Amino acid sequence: MDYVEHVADLVGDTPLVRLNSLTKPGNARVLAKVEYFNPGGSVKDRIAERMIEAAEESGELPPGGTIVEPTSGNTGVGLAMIAQRKGYRCVFVCPDKVSEDKRNVLEAYGAEVVVCPTAVPPEHEDSYYSVSDRLAAQDGYWKPNQYNNHANPESHYHSTGPEIWEQTEGRVTHFVAGIGTGGTISGIGRYLKEVSEGRVRIVGADPEGSVYSGGNGRPYLVEGVGEDFWPNTYDREICDEIISVSDGDSFRMTRELARQEALLVGGSCGMAVVAALRLAERVDPEDVIVVMLPDSGRGYLTKVFNDSWMASYGFLPPGHSGGSIGDVL
Ligand code: PMP
Repeated sequence: MDYVEHVADLVGDTPLVRLNSLTKPGNARVLAKVEYFNPGGSVKDRIAERMIEAAEESGELPPGGTIVEPTSGNTGVGLAMIAQRKGYRCVFVCPDKVSEDKRNVLEAYGAEVVVCPTAVPPEHEDSYYSVSDRLAAQDGYWKPNQYNNHANPESHYHSTGPEIWEQTEGRVTHFVAGIGTGGTISGIGRYLKEVSEGRVRIVGADPEGSVYSGGNGRPYLVEGVGEDFWPNTYDREICDEIISVSDGDSFRMTRELARQEALLVGGSCGMAVVAALRLAERVDPEDVIVVMLPDSGRGYLTKVFNDSWMASYGFLPPGHSGGSIGDVL
């Protein structure tokens, strides 16, 4: 019989899907690494298991202990999935810009959720970083701290990076990803640079306003990417280039991915694809660009995929239900 013992055994080995409709003829090939195929629905399943196992080994996470983490949802789902399997309790701290859908998902897995304001600096006592620190100081609590945990980039170095190299038979020339904790781009980037002896170019995609592309941390609406501080999990040497993308362009592209490629994915995927398609226009047509699509669009139905929400920010003219790709590129 062909089965696994637990759904968590299905993390990783996600497919590469070529973007055919959105790429222009004669441009480089763009292959999307579609991470919603992970059982928790995002790339973050990969880091959850590795961070928990490392903490068990070091003794930081005691048997029956509580996992507390500031997370925009995806890391929470991955942690909740592994925690359930291993008998840990989970408390997640989310910024208020995170959609209610995402919070409901965390609760569905049995986790508790605490919501904090987005519009305060990280050092403020109500910031989601501070609140989670206070909770984590309690006995029996452990904070994975995905922003400062080397198991995060390591998981990508050991799983996602080798997958991309094997799937492309070593022909990948560019890797494009958004940067949140930086774990994805740093781990995959390091692996691909090592295995290709420096040939693969690593390109970050970043929301306008985020520090990674020179911004001052001003707010933007794309979830899960960009920061107002520099996390330790981000290797500042890894990117050869960073392309900044506006909220409007990110969200319009996200909708085009669903309409034209049947890929229902999140806003940070649209952002990364804008960067990948801009790159595809100017690199050698024989090049192979791999772009990371971190999660599914199911968590954003009331935002990116809602016309009124899009129109309220001026991302779509009123009554207009789809963006034109010519406006984005
Ligand atoms: N997109 C989404 C939707 C995310 O939740 C995250 C993680 N914060 C990222 C992209 C960025 O991944 P990383 O933290 O590995 O840089």
